[in-house]
Amino acid sequence: MKKERGILFVLSGPSGVGKGTVNRSLRKQWDGLEFSISVTTRKPREGEEDGVDYFFKSRDEFEKMIEQNELLEHAEYVGNYYGTPLQYVEKTLADGKDVLLEIEVQGALQVRKLVPEGVFIFLAPPSLDELRNRIVGRGTETEELIDNRMKVAKEELEMMDHYDYVVENDEIQAACDRIKAISIAEHCKKDRI
Ligand code: 5GP
Repeated sequence: MKKERGILFVLSGPSGVGKGTVNRSLRKQWDGLEFSISVTTRKPREGEEDGVDYFFKSRDEFEKMIEQNELLEHAEYVGNYYGTPLQYVEKTLADGKDVLLEIEVQGALQVRKLVPEGVFIFLAPPSLDELRNRIVGRGTETEELIDNRMKVAKEELEMMDHYDYVVENDEIQAACDRIKAISIAEHCKKDRI
């Protein structure tokens, strides 16, 4: 019983919900899952490394990647572009390995259309107040950016209906365990074997 293609997992949800933290935590505890590194025009935050956290590009370079169809999806989010390298995802899945994308909601909806057999997981905050506290607590954003992110987050919460699973991020390890359980269940699905 050998599965030919890997499974594409898409972890999405409002910014500040803890997708990045859950993603980094999963990396440490999930052998056999490949993590796609996104391309962005956002400036690196302190401690972020090119090729590790993101591939950091200029707007010109990013727009060229769009023109040349090098991205599976892309979105403009709070003034910056973010996108998923197509070739990496395609090759990794073709090699039979699972891939996880950690992306915002507009991008996830594009992937849903292109890869309907993917597994779409919505990471939900316990509450909007909690979400705001987390973004403020990160200390990297201005008031204006925080308000912008909250506005986007409220719209994003309404998108839950388009997902296969909703995982509440009340506690990081509990959220990771739920996501791993989803993966196990997906691998046991009759139509995947
Ligand atoms: P941040 O600037 O905080 O690293 O990311 C902002 C938002 O962009 C987060 O919600 C993150 O999940 C999302 N994001 C990161 N990479 C991608 C990507 O390749 N495509 C899309 N559509 N969103 C992404």
